[in-house]
Amino acid sequence: MKSVIFIAPPAAGKGTHSKRLESLGYMHISTGDMLREEIKKDTPLGKEIENIISKGNLVSDELVHGLIRNCLTNIKMPFILDGYPRTLSQAEMLDNLFQELGITNYEVIYLDINLEEAMKRALGRLSCSCGETYNIYDDKFKPQKEGICDKCGRVLVKRSDDNEESFKVRFESFITNTKPIKEYYERKNKLHCIEAMQENEKITERIKEILND
Ligand code: AMP
Repeated sequence: MKSVIFIAPPAAGKGTHSKRLESLGYMHISTGDMLREEIKKDTPLGKEIENIISKGNLVSDELVHGLIRNCLTNIKMPFILDGYPRTLSQAEMLDNLFQELGITNYEVIYLDINLEEAMKRALGRLSCSCGETYNIYDDKFKPQKEGICDKCGRVLVKRSDDNEESFKVRFESFITNTKPIKEYYERKNKLHCIEAMQENEKITERIKEILND
């Protein structure tokens, strides 16, 4: 099975599709999740990261690359990179790391979505500490009981960076930063674009086609 680098604007669904691939034996590596774990530990580094993330800005390339290096060294299974690389310099650092570790069997998938739809998804998004996610603006993904996780009964929370102002900054900085990354992987013949506003099942089928090719 090929490994996959997901590149997608915030709230395009890369988290959801990564989870679907996990059930096929993929290891899900999300830089956003790793950074939120660091914040939970309440260390000085965690506080610094929280300050950056809550404003919708990017954490330094060196910090996230260190996290990725730790995960990929000695990895034995196909993996999904979710949220990395986000800048051209991260893509170049990743390429060097792949060469060093002998990783060649991978594809890059870009999930395409516009600002309006992504904003709607982000503002309705709620999550549970057990890993379940919900959306109050989508009947298919609403919790049965308002604010409570269907699976474990805990109280659902909103991500601190899912507010209108910070979301717009994240989305726009994503589009600016991603253009050169898309071009970079296009030149390597690795890039596949998928429309993110179609049904999840259709997206999953397309992803499987790309990874089994
Ligand atoms: P995500 O959960 O992928 O949307 O990431 C949440 C936030 O974590 C982003 O808005 C950034 O502030 C930070 N972050 C995640 N991945 C990266 C990365 N590759 N480079 C820099 N910052 C990142």
